[in-house]
Amino acid sequence: MMYIADEKRYEQISYRRCGKSGIRLPEISLGLWHNFGGVDTFENYRAILRTAFDKGVTHFDLANNYGPPPGSAEENFGLLMKKDFAAYRDELIISSKAGYLMWPGPYGEWGSRKYIIASCDQSLKRMGLDYVDIFYSHRPDPDTPMEETMGALDTLVRQGKALYVGLSNYDADQTKEALAILKQLGTPCLIHQPKYSMLVRDPENGLLDVLGENGVGCIPFSPLAQGILTNKYLHGIPEDSRAGKSTGFLQKDQVTTDTISKVKALHEIAEKRGQSLAQMAIAWLLKDQRVTTVLIGASRVEQLLDSLKAVDNKHFDASELEGIEGILG
Ligand code: NDP
Repeated sequence: MMYIADEKRYEQISYRRCGKSGIRLPEISLGLWHNFGGVDTFENYRAILRTAFDKGVTHFDLANNYGPPPGSAEENFGLLMKKDFAAYRDELIISSKAGYLMWPGPYGEWGSRKYIIASCDQSLKRMGLDYVDIFYSHRPDPDTPMEETMGALDTLVRQGKALYVGLSNYDADQTKEALAILKQLGTPCLIHQPKYSMLVRDPENGLLDVLGENGVGCIPFSPLAQGILTNKYLHGIPEDSRAGKSTGFLQKDQVTTDTISKVKALHEIAEKRGQSLAQMAIAWLLKDQRVTTVLIGASRVEQLLDSLKAVDNKHFDASELEGIEGILG
């Protein structure tokens, strides 16, 4: 059946300004790293994308290598752009990235101008798009001058292939250097995508300050620690979970007894707040106004609907925050 988006979609979620830019993003965005690849089921990911947009989620995050196999998430997304979302292109913020291994030889990964520009061209082809809204350098390259990588991002904007640029997995000092170069080039950085959750706190060691001071947005990825910060692993590893599947990036040995004992204690706090643990983990990130939007994943519609309800209670009182810190140690 032809897809017609819910006409009440913009009444369901709030939008936060991305740093000091003109762009506002929904408090929750959807990532296509898992669950949208060649190994996944078309009708399932189609329903997830439709539901997300119906709920006001205007931002979909991709990368060249998402799948598996690499590239298949962009291809599948391209198909759905054509089938379902073509009429809504101007209502969507679509991002992609280059940085990780995509093709063999010396030009298939990292941060050279050669790789970044070729990879963006490939991504546009796979998605059937004229441009992406945000193009990221997916990781810093220790062997390529920062000027070259940032220069390539700037070129993509000047060529009309990307509207904005972003950085991912750059630490605070690398970010500072990159922001200065981009500013000088006249293509200010829109957003930074770090790994950040209750279990991974690195951005609190300087990165969030750099972003706040420079008016750059922040979109934390893996906010649920790939599913660990949900009720999923409380009683073992289900077969159909990311840790249970052979194609998932979460390894069984990352679901440790020590982590799960913390997760159980967090789960109790979430219950007292009247939230699922997933909702509390997302709300906990949104309490910091420097966080523009939280980038979640979902393997089915029910999860997406559960996670989206995080925005209904973003307030934490001091005792709840202390309790959480006590558990996380
Ligand atoms: P999350 O931490 O949100 O994990 C998502 C997984 O958690 C789901 O696939 C599902 O796992 C489980 N889950 C989600 N919601 C619920 C719920 N309400 N209840 C129970 N379980 C739930 O994020 P991801 O790790 O998927 O990352 C999100 C996005 O971030 C990616 O798609 C990508 O766009 C981006 N990213 C960027 C990276 C970078 O280097 N820039 C690296 C990694 C991700 P299950 O399959 O077990 O059901």
